[in-house]
Amino acid sequence: MPLTPSTTARERDNTPPVPPGSVIGILGGGQLGRMLSLAAARMGYACHIYTPDHDSPASTVSAKTTVAPWDSRDHLAAFADQVDVITLEFENIPLDCLDFLSQRTRVHPSRPVLETAQDRIKEKTFFSAFAQTAPWAPVFSDNDLMHAAEVTGTPAILKTNRLGYDGKGQIRVETQAELAKAWDTLKTDCAILEGFVAFRGEASILIARGRNGETASWDLAWNEHRNHILDTSSVPAPVSEIVTAEALRIAHEAAKRLDLTGLLALEFFVTHDDRILVNEMAPRPHNSGHWTMDGSYTDQFEQAIRAVCGLPLGDTRRRCAVTMKNVLGHDVTNWPMILENPLARLHLYGKASPRPGRKMGHINFLEG
Ligand code: AMP
Repeated sequence: MPLTPSTTARERDNTPPVPPGSVIGILGGGQLGRMLSLAAARMGYACHIYTPDHDSPASTVSAKTTVAPWDSRDHLAAFADQVDVITLEFENIPLDCLDFLSQRTRVHPSRPVLETAQDRIKEKTFFSAFAQTAPWAPVFSDNDLMHAAEVTGTPAILKTNRLGYDGKGQIRVETQAELAKAWDTLKTDCAILEGFVAFRGEASILIARGRNGETASWDLAWNEHRNHILDTSSVPAPVSEIVTAEALRIAHEAAKRLDLTGLLALEFFVTHDDRILVNEMAPRPHNSGHWTMDGSYTDQFEQAIRAVCGLPLGDTRRRCAVTMKNVLGHDVTNWPMILENPLARLHLYGKASPRPGRKMGHINFLEG
């Protein structure tokens, strides 16, 4: 989508941009941090990674890394003092850590955005105000299970309220009789039950919002999962104009309501009758947006850097059709074969041990 200047009444942030030559702090050291750091370097910035993990994919391409726990005040303070702006590649940063850093340095996206993204009940409540979701109900104890199942019907999926990803922390139940066992298995005191959606497919949209409220979104991606992990994302997505328009409306509305600065990815279920139901959001670069690295005038990583540094946003139009495929586990050893195709753009994350299901890289197959 071309740039669409925002007309929100958001108070404009008129502080000067963070200029090239400055240091950007990134919370999290995974592949998303690595690709943010590479995009930042291209624009003349240096990145400082803060991560609890040794040998992180982002560290090997960044100017500096602090390896420390999220609750180490000394390390956080020293980190904040050395950077000009902070962003993140991982939404489950403890909120205390974010609050502590925000008192010292500008952090994008802000606490309310993370708070919503970390908590499925808050997230669903947020979206239910202006978009459709699957039927859902909160569950705090086994006493809530039957009522929740009346709201959602069966089959349904019981999901932990926090810290679920790639299908982890969720159990599908076929009948109400299976609920008690699923609840015991999850070992949580806060979950949601969600009606199972017999969808036509899954799509996602990515939107960037600058410090001044300017927004830019990319074309919808059509996502196929394998073993609960994203396998491919394709653009253009095989969806109607109605679906596209509704996805855009929801993305713009969400970014505005969250007063977002940075990136927001929204995942949807697309039904057979052309409705879209919001599944979840991530306020950071997203795996389904990796196609933008080779298929768009401005990719998601550069755009994130532009947004958090207060620079003008880049043009997000698509240059060609792309299918992004994740490279998981030992498939990484197929790199010689992948490179035989001159239109296959290979991105590897420099991870040493290819465990099954581990994201080792991705390929953007460009349509010539
Ligand atoms: P999530 O962790 O909520 O993103 O779920 C991971 C994947 O599980 C989704 O991408 C879907 O493929 C599937 N899934 C999650 N929730 C539902 C649902 N309510 N109905 C059908 N499939 C679902």
